[in-house]
Amino acid sequence: MKHKPEHVAVVGGGLVGSLLSIFLARKGMEVTLFERRPDPRSHSAYQGRSINLALSDRGWRALAAVGADAEVRRLAIPMYRRVLHREDGTLGYQDYGKEGQAIYSVSRGGLNRALLSLAETESKVRVHFGQRCVDADLEAGRLVFEDADAGRLEQRFDAVFGADGAFSALRSEMLRTDRFNYQQEYIEHGYKELSIPPDAEGHFQMEREALHIWPRGSHMLIALPNPDGSFTCTLFFAFEGPDSFAELTAPAKARVYFEQHFADALALMPNFDAEWAENPVSALCIIRCYPWVKGKVALIGDAAHAIVPFYGQGMNAGFEDCYELDRILSEHTDWHEALDAYQRERKPNGDAIADLALQNFIEMRDRTADPRFLLQKRIEARFNDRHPTLWTPLYSMVTFSDMPYAEALRRGKIQEEIMESVMKRPDIEALWDAPEVEAAILEACVRAFGHR
Ligand SMILES: Cc1cc2nc3c(=O)[nH]c(=O)nc-3n(C[C@H](O)[C@H](O)[C@H](O)COP(=O)(O)OP(=O)(O)OC[C@H]3O[C@@H](n4cnc5c(N)ncnc54)[C@H](O)[C@@H]3O)c2cc1C
Repeated sequence: MKHKPEHVAVVGGGLVGSLLSIFLARKGMEVTLFERRPDPRSHSAYQGRSINLALSDRGWRALAAVGADAEVRRLAIPMYRRVLHREDGTLGYQDYGKEGQAIYSVSRGGLNRALLSLAETESKVRVHFGQRCVDADLEAGRLVFEDADAGRLEQRFDAVFGADGAFSALRSEMLRTDRFNYQQEYIEHGYKELSIPPDAEGHFQMEREALHIWPRGSHMLIALPNPDGSFTCTLFFAFEGPDSFAELTAPAKARVYFEQHFADALALMPNFDAEWAENPVSALCIIRCYPWVKGKVALIGDAAHAIVPFYGQGMNAGFEDCYELDRILSEHTDWHEALDAYQRERKPNGDAIADLALQNFIEMRDRTADPRFLLQKRIEARFNDRHPTLWTPLYSMVTFSDMPYAEALRRGKIQEEIMESVMKRPDIEALWDAPEVEAAILEACVRAFGHR
């Protein structure tokens, strides 16, 4: 390959940086991975906390490409369906996909440790912990690091990847350059983590292989299972306003609120008061920027496209960046052309998943509690069973396929319009599985997608 770099730096040893290092080393490059934190395998940073993420098909595909999937599968719990916890205490169920299809709950720390260990087994990867990138010359590929012990260090590389997350130091350097577009948007909601421990025998206190959700209109609580029998719960709640963190600063007030709105969850949270007082409220931010490549530096993962977490796709999108970059590098004979193709191909998909993730917040917190929405999902699932090549539910296109996110967004919009008109039929509750409803959807699909 023309201009192929020999020495490459990856800044950020999080989920995406550690996976990217493996891909690059296997392409024959000497990779140095810099992580500002101490080694999570020898440090207690993650111990005792079970923060988990939903891993789905795009993430698995990237992990499988470097042979990391089997190891990660041992850490993962499949979640086959949403369990809806209504305010009156009753439960509802919604399958994520077809039989056997699941998203997987994995511990962030466990996954990061596994990927770092795998990266270190590569002869071409060297990992430095405790080194924070504080300055960069993008054109020269020169990086400056602050090392807790050794002070300031400087090194030059043929190419650099910024995998340093939503508040990327390398992206900040790009901000000072000409014609760099940047947009940062905080949503009104933040989140706080709480937990449901296992019972006295160490068993799960709710259905294990499911994502639990308490949809409450403008806000929601969710819970994902951990291998130790506990659930990590996340409350997504407005910062300010009538139902908001600002109103519930004291644990006693929060307890009263939970008794009213999340009573079944609260009953399983013996540490509620302490966790409410101690766990921070964190903000949620969407970051869009372009170009992703400046001089010798390219951005990847959250550094290029930070999104809100409501589709469970941030990490999956970052892993897909690695997979697609690897493919693009194989298809090109010039390094610079390959990186340009990477940014041009991935940027629309980063934008699309950012939009989809925001849309899904409304679906999760509001629409999942609506019986008409659940009926719509049943009609879609039935149509998909009968015409699988013509219709795939949007959730499945995003979660259980490798269709580009931008294409999933486009098709999803058309399908939503079709469903809106079907749901307007006055007799839809009675006729939801009637041949005439199926025929109407079929006709609309043929009009929209042009084939049968
Ligand atoms: C509440 C919440 C829930 C989420 N749930 C999901 C989910 O279910 N599924 C999903 O797919 N995604 C989820 N995400 C998104 C996911 O966490 C991110 O997309 C993912 O972590 C991005 O990985 P990354 O490696 O790009 O960035 P990060 O994970 O942020 O890693 C960046 C790394 O770079 C290091 N670093 C930063 N600055 C420097 C520097 N200057 N020098 C050296 N090192 C540096 C950091 O220490 C860190 O280790 C969620 C996010 C949130 C906030």
